[in-house]
Amino acid sequence: MKNCPQCGQEIDKVEVADPTQNPVENCIMCGKETEYHFKDHVDFRTGYIEGAGQLCASCYRAGSSEGREMIVVPKSLIRDTPNNLDLGARIRKIFWGL
Ligand SMILES: [Zn+2]
Repeated sequence: MKNCPQCGQEIDKVEVADPTQNPVENCIMCGKETEYHFKDHVDFRTGYIEGAGQLCASCYRAGSSEGREMIVVPKSLIRDTPNNLDLGARIRKIFWGL
């Protein structure tokens, strides 16, 4: 009997994810498929941005650490703010924490 070094379960009893239930994640920047699947734990990934999603290796390498920083904007803010100028001002307030 051998145990998984990650989860400690017996290897024979570890369930293998069904690929149809665990599709590949696409890059949030370029849209290409990444090497990761939705159920892959984020602690074992490279290029995963919490609150945003997965980057492909190419987009991850292309950005500086500041260039990879993102903020999350509620969809309702975009839906409820039809004027682009007002939307920009509201997003800027979120960015600066005002
Ligand atoms: Zn990409």
